[in-house]
Amino acid sequence: MDLLNTLVDKGLRRETPTRAEALAVLATGDDDLLDVVAAAGKVRRRWFGRRVKLNYLVNLKSGLCPEDCSYCSQRLGSKAEVLTYTWLKPGQAAAAAEAGVAGGAKRVCLVASGRGPTGRDVERVADTIAAIKERDTDVEICVCLGLLSEGQAARLREAGAHAYNHNLNTAEAVYGDICTTHGFADRVDTVQRARAEGLSACSGLIAGMGETDQDLVDVVFALRELDVDSVPVNFLIPFTGTPMAGEWALTPQRCLRILAMVRFVCPDIEVRVAGGREIHLRTLQPLALHIANAIFLGDYLTSEGQAGKADLDMITDAGFEVEERDAATLPEHRRDPVAAGDRVLDGDGDGDGDGDGDGDGDGDGPVRETAGSARADLVAVRRRGAGTDLPPNA
Ligand code: SF4
Repeated sequence: MDLLNTLVDKGLRRETPTRAEALAVLATGDDDLLDVVAAAGKVRRRWFGRRVKLNYLVNLKSGLCPEDCSYCSQRLGSKAEVLTYTWLKPGQAAAAAEAGVAGGAKRVCLVASGRGPTGRDVERVADTIAAIKERDTDVEICVCLGLLSEGQAARLREAGAHAYNHNLNTAEAVYGDICTTHGFADRVDTVQRARAEGLSACSGLIAGMGETDQDLVDVVFALRELDVDSVPVNFLIPFTGTPMAGEWALTPQRCLRILAMVRFVCPDIEVRVAGGREIHLRTLQPLALHIANAIFLGDYLTSEGQAGKADLDMITDAGFEVEERDAATLPEHRRDPVAAGDRVLDGDGDGDGDGDGDGDGDGDGPVRETAGSARADLVAVRRRGAGTDLPPNA
């Protein structure tokens, strides 16, 4: 297939594909699915070998958020029966982080619900980072606290954070459909603030919220243009008690095409299969490892993942290896987040695309697939780990 040959060539050169090419990946049929996975796999192996980086989530503060993100079980007015608790103490968070690290995680992601942190919150997180580093100086720490204001990114960096996560989630054009309490530009601003202060920028998306192919391509190009270092790809977990309950628009094949498109647009960037992996990819999960180079180990913020041991077995069975502590995740040209501020995009790098969104029959228009079957039985609320008396699933 000419398209796939072109995309592999561009991926090996770190060149950005056109929007039309990215859209064409999403429009491929099931007969071509394994060819798409194999092509994305060539790009993945060029930049990341067969390594799988394990990330471990610690929800520092759960639920009761004043924002109204419609996909989120912690949102204002959420009726989802998720754990709700206020800030974990540094020692509690460090104990949870330790379990994830013992399970093989290289990065710990410290997350708190809310619009954004107060100065006091940032200090609590600084204390938590210190408590984690006291037990293990080398663990990589990513922080996710919502919208950042002036000076907060610098303080987190000084406290020992390596990265900051703030997802764009969906395209600017439809952002108002999923959230009214903050905007797309607010999210972009926080990613830029984090990056400007030398934090490695982690920002991704959620697929399966009713978006078009054009929307998906738009958000991935926006992430490419922000030059983030890692892109978590979430598949909507349609919690009962949120406005998105019952939204089952994804199939396992669709998830793989989305991951492949992200890999081609972001060839040398960490692509992580994030929330919703188990419930949407189901038995095709191992194929995703040929495209993505990172996953979350065990549970998510408010929902359960498969057992951490099952994650490790899947990696081994699929012929991949857990990324070791001393291995660098990113290719050499991306390793220094401070220097990354001066990094120049490669290839055409402008993401200007061509033939995009014009309905000219080149396959770039919105393509809606047959929705997946509703599988609400697969959504399990997290009841163990951080904020509970039960041991974490790691
Ligand atoms: S700001 Fe974060 S925690 Fe709050 S509703 Fe939105 S996604 Fe959920």
